[in-house]
Amino acid sequence: MNKEAFMTAAGRMYEELSAWRGEHKQASYDEIAAQVTQWRQRLMGQLLAELAEQEGQGEYLAERSCPQCGGVLHYKGKKVRGVGHAEGSAKIERGYHHCDQCGHGFFPSGPDVATGGPQLESGDAGQRHPTGG
Ligand SMILES: [Zn+2]
Repeated sequence: MNKEAFMTAAGRMYEELSAWRGEHKQASYDEIAAQVTQWRQRLMGQLLAELAEQEGQGEYLAERSCPQCGGVLHYKGKKVRGVGHAEGSAKIERGYHHCDQCGHGFFPSGPDVATGGPQLESGDAGQRHPTGG
């Protein structure tokens, strides 16, 4: 789905909703909102999938160790992962990895992303010595 396809889909969404509204002149605000939500989620789901897949297919983890047990992860090919989100559900093809040692399987979230900034670490920032008293 490129930008043109997205714009076409958005235009179609407008037309379909307008037509629906024309056929449902008594529709309440909530009913209209429900229609809009359906279309929006469908459209945004496509957009989400497009953007998520742009980031990478997740095959890069071939030589990683298992986050659960430290065993060797094996790339198991692509699987379609259903992703639910408030902005729309999407089915995204991701590289699936599986650990033979503990059976842990997962989809990496994306390529190693260098955020360009210092990573925030959880925990105490600096040592604090309680002053007694
Ligand atoms: Zn494991």
